[in-house]
Amino acid sequence: MDNLLDNIKSILLMGPGPSSVDPRVYAALSRNVLGHLDPYFLTIADGLKELLRRIMNTKNEFTIPISGTGSAGMEASFVNLVEPEDDVLVLTNGLFGVRMQEVARRLHARVDALEFPWGQPVITEEVEKAVRRKHYKIVAVIHAETSTGVRNPVKEIGSVVKGTDAIYLVDAVTSLGGMDVSMDAWHCDALYSATQKCLSCPPGLAPLSFSEKAMAAVKARKARVPNWYLDFTMIADYWGRNRVYHHTAPISMIYALYQALLLILDEGQEAVFSRHMRNHLAMVEGLEALGLKMFVDKPFRLPMLGTVVVPEGVDEGAVRRRLRSEFDIELGAGLGPLAGKAWRIGLMGHTSRQENVSRLLAALERVLQGTAREGVTLEIDPPHRPDQPARP
Ligand code: PLP
Repeated sequence: MDNLLDNIKSILLMGPGPSSVDPRVYAALSRNVLGHLDPYFLTIADGLKELLRRIMNTKNEFTIPISGTGSAGMEASFVNLVEPEDDVLVLTNGLFGVRMQEVARRLHARVDALEFPWGQPVITEEVEKAVRRKHYKIVAVIHAETSTGVRNPVKEIGSVVKGTDAIYLVDAVTSLGGMDVSMDAWHCDALYSATQKCLSCPPGLAPLSFSEKAMAAVKARKARVPNWYLDFTMIADYWGRNRVYHHTAPISMIYALYQALLLILDEGQEAVFSRHMRNHLAMVEGLEALGLKMFVDKPFRLPMLGTVVVPEGVDEGAVRRRLRSEFDIELGAGLGPLAGKAWRIGLMGHTSRQENVSRLLAALERVLQGTAREGVTLEIDPPHRPDQPARP
């Protein structure tokens, strides 16, 4: 029988995740599987908790990888914290904020959405007014809104939430490993991420951390956590000293995440963040030289994900299809109101390299010349070369 896996090509992953995986992370995935209660595996698991604390900049004891993708981190956060009739404030400026609202509503929380336009950041002063008006159990926000490419001011929002007794929940799915995430300094009580973005692992784990305050809220619940698989009161018994079996830990993914975090810490977090910023700026410069426009204003752009406006007359999907079939490059499509109107270009983790920026720009220039809708002539500015006079 044919093995479909033999035909997997190496695609340069420049969408909103997953990102390219470092060969050393692939090597970690192929190491011998140990038992999930094996003493040496537990040593690795403890080592992973410590690495996660370092990358999240937290001292929280309960800092673990949740089995499942980023959505499992989101679901686990809400399902452990929310009880019916709890008041929850979700700061929303994109699809993942909307998803947070949905998750909280299914748990019968009373959800207030503080909405901001897609493509604009959350405004801290508005959050301040909202938390003064009403007492919330949870205030939740997305750090890096992957649907739009906007960075939200999580640190500033944290200073506002700190003045209340609300639990501050931050989604760091796209930001962790590509920009500063300082959980304790931001007065953040609960934070989750995912492995397939700037951590450059395959998808499958959701790194998560709960502060003592957040864990106290879980312990103080009137009723048990309604979801057995994600119940932290039980999961804490496996990841803590007791080592009580709850579910089988995804051993190979834990090796992969451990290796990926070591790579980031060996390169140095500051150096990793600068690399992301440098390559982002180079990409924006190249895109603008091609006549393209960024969707988000400069101060709010993410270093790991750029949203690019599809020019009038260009078939958004056709460009992506040609990049994939002729150049082995994957870009992301726009979501929600941005569907058909934007590309999302990821420069996350191992993908964030100078040669990938150059490869994409060269391919995009070729494809754009030939992908205007029938009857439309597309004017694309050729990149400015130093030996030629600049265009006005
Ligand atoms: N939160 C944000 C900000 C995301 O970008 C994503 C996925 O892209 C998720 C949550 C959900 O993560 P996953 O698709 O890994 O379940």
